[in-house]
Amino acid sequence: MAPLSVGPGDDVDAWCGKCLMVMSHRIIAVVGSQIKKVECLTCHAIHAYKSAPGAKNERGASRNAVDVPLRASKGKTPRASRVESEWNVFMAEKAPEHQARPYMVTESFAITEFVEHPIFGVGRVLEITGAEKMVVIFKEGRKTLLCNRVPRVP
Ligand SMILES: [Zn+2]
Repeated sequence: MAPLSVGPGDDVDAWCGKCLMVMSHRIIAVVGSQIKKVECLTCHAIHAYKSAPGAKNERGASRNAVDVPLRASKGKTPRASRVESEWNVFMAEKAPEHQARPYMVTESFAITEFVEHPIFGVGRVLEITGAEKMVVIFKEGRKTLLCNRVPRVP
């Protein structure tokens, strides 16, 4: 590519978003070998230089496309694995003869007991936090569950 032979003050043909046409523009700013800012000689709008209406800053577009999935996985993986490894620590003591009891709000559970929840799967009671509340660790994290509820008499 030939070195840019224009500088601020020179005229250049550029796309004007106001005129919606390629018009003569005066160059206002040049960075390196790239025209950055131009003034439309017709409507006098000052805007970023574009050679054509569809022209995009390609560097910016590809950077975004790479960044988005990277950021999403960075945000998720460490937290998920930390929670899961905590759960693994508590589940490590589960011997085959230890049966997880099906979770029901009317049941009472003891600390360290294994519980099987219909949604969260197998977990272990960490704490009894009140007369009817307990904290259970599941694969996806700690949950406060109700327990010890008096069954309703119909
Ligand atoms: Zn214009």
